[in-house]
Amino acid sequence: MDLLIADALVVTCNDARHMLEHSAIAVRGNRIAAVGPTAELERDFPKFERFASRGLAVLPGFINAHTHTALTMLRGTVEDWDGSAVYAYMSPVSYAMTGKERAVMTTLGCLEAIRSGCTTLVDPFRHVLSYGKAMAATGLRLWLSESCADINTLNIRKGDYTVDAAFGQVFLDRTAALIETMHGSHGGRVQCQIAAHAPDNCSPAMLARLRELALRHGLTRTVHLSQGMDEQRAVRAAYGLTPAEYLDREGFLGPDLVGAHWTFCSPSDIDLLATRGVQMAHCPANSSRRGPHQALIGRIRDAGVNIALGTDNMTEDMFHALKIGLIVHRGGRGRAVELGVDPQPQAMLDGITRNAARSVGAATEIGSIEVGKKADLTFIDLNTPAMRPLIGLVSNLVHYGHPGIVHSVMTDGVFLMRDRKVLTLDEDALLREAQVVTQRVWERMIADNPDIPPPPGGLRWLDA
Ligand SMILES: [Zn+2]
Repeated sequence: MDLLIADALVVTCNDARHMLEHSAIAVRGNRIAAVGPTAELERDFPKFERFASRGLAVLPGFINAHTHTALTMLRGTVEDWDGSAVYAYMSPVSYAMTGKERAVMTTLGCLEAIRSGCTTLVDPFRHVLSYGKAMAATGLRLWLSESCADINTLNIRKGDYTVDAAFGQVFLDRTAALIETMHGSHGGRVQCQIAAHAPDNCSPAMLARLRELALRHGLTRTVHLSQGMDEQRAVRAAYGLTPAEYLDREGFLGPDLVGAHWTFCSPSDIDLLATRGVQMAHCPANSSRRGPHQALIGRIRDAGVNIALGTDNMTEDMFHALKIGLIVHRGGRGRAVELGVDPQPQAMLDGITRNAARSVGAATEIGSIEVGKKADLTFIDLNTPAMRPLIGLVSNLVHYGHPGIVHSVMTDGVFLMRDRKVLTLDEDALLREAQVVTQRVWERMIADNPDIPPPPGGLRWLDA
């Protein structure tokens, strides 16, 4: 599509963070052909369809740097559970779902992502080939990966950390098939990563295989890092090291690696990770469910680590990440009143745009509004109560933004949502189907795994 977005307030997120009033963006095919004053571009691109954007802000499409859309299945159940949900619920549920059921729940996550202004998701999970095409059909840009482990994650909740090479080989085979089938597909809109699930469930042999795979295919890598106390204890028991030290011993740290969470990283872990150039996917909203996230975020920022923001589990709402991220990052430096208010809101916006693009090795393609980059754009309705008065737009977005202010979303030059109507899927049918699937999977999972407790609020299927 050739489109002229006219008379918008353009928040470029370029190096100079230019904000351009009454400006236009010419989109030719899937790329940005020009950015400049509306009158000038109307003269230069007279045949382009005009998309009147007065009253709209246009931003680089939001990039969720770490999420698991399939886990929308667990929404409203495990958030308030007092235990390690990763092994108690998340791993079992990934097996309890059929491929079709995973496709429904990941599509629900994609729908929520689009409605919250996302154009790109970075989504490591399991059995990805069973739903990857359904996710791609939503039109989102995707980085997909099979979250690999060679310690059976279904047994860890029973305290069993035995290395199981056959279990691990299944993941390696799935990773190879995923790369073969989906990497670079959909006109390059779908890419793959290499994912080690976590330091406590990947043996040195698995880490070596994954490093080789990444090198062979030229892919970026991701891992959950220092997410929970049980991970700290297990890695200490097995290797006498912290998770960061263990990954370093195995040569797994590097600038192409994104670690999610860093919750229990010590000051020396942070120095080590920064020295190796490791990047961070920070999921401040999810990580703050048991109180404000206690990662040493001030030290991480001071060390110059590239920080991208994600949502992690049970939500795709990037405004949560912006808002709670600002609180957590300011709190990570102690009392703001004594130390100054740092960071400023633009740093959070960078975390879901340019920093997140860099985290997947795509800084030259997405993450800012600049000529030659992919046309991934998020349109914000400025004529909404939360955006007025209009003085500090980025401040408004970070402090008060919510999915209701998102007007339109474009990925790869194609509108996924236009004037609040999602164009790439049947929203009503999907919501109904997701409810049916969720009930079916929960009942199956509890029946097949009698040791899994029902969630703290019980399972009451509300009719609406
Ligand atoms: Zn995660």
